[in-house]
Amino acid sequence: MRCPVCHGDMIVVEHNRIELDYCRQCHGVWFDAGELELLLESLDLESLQVILDDVLELPEAQSGEKKRRCPICGRKMKKANIGQEPPILIDVCSRGDGLWFDGGELHQLITQAAGISRDKPAAQKRVIDFLGEAFQAEK
Ligand SMILES: [Zn+2]
Ligand SMILES: [Zn+2]
Repeated sequence: MRCPVCHGDMIVVEHNRIELDYCRQCHGVWFDAGELELLLESLDLESLQVILDDVLELPEAQSGEKKRRCPICGRKMKKANIGQEPPILIDVCSRGDGLWFDGGELHQLITQAAGISRDKPAAQKRVIDFLGEAFQAEK
């Protein structure tokens, strides 16, 4: 699959049977529909799923950021703000193919989610392990 930002080839990263596509050049991450939910479930971060369930219904976010094309269907993706303060601006395929996170945004989202689950040290540890293992390739 081609990166929607820099158009380089993305690599598939697998972690706990969850696959994501990762761009080594710009560090962006693509999740097919459903994969991100699986990830959050496996990390015990259900609090975030509520936000993601509604992501297709969210209004288009105002942004100067360039529109990107979905790596699957090629249509322009919608900008949406998710998460807590500060919100994270992601790109969403309006057909529901998946979600795009620019370099660092996935990290922000998962870190926020782990903060919400502050009462769950085990969840936080899983998050840290995931980020460390899944993105070893970039070091
Ligand atoms: Zn890229
Ligand atoms: Zn699409």
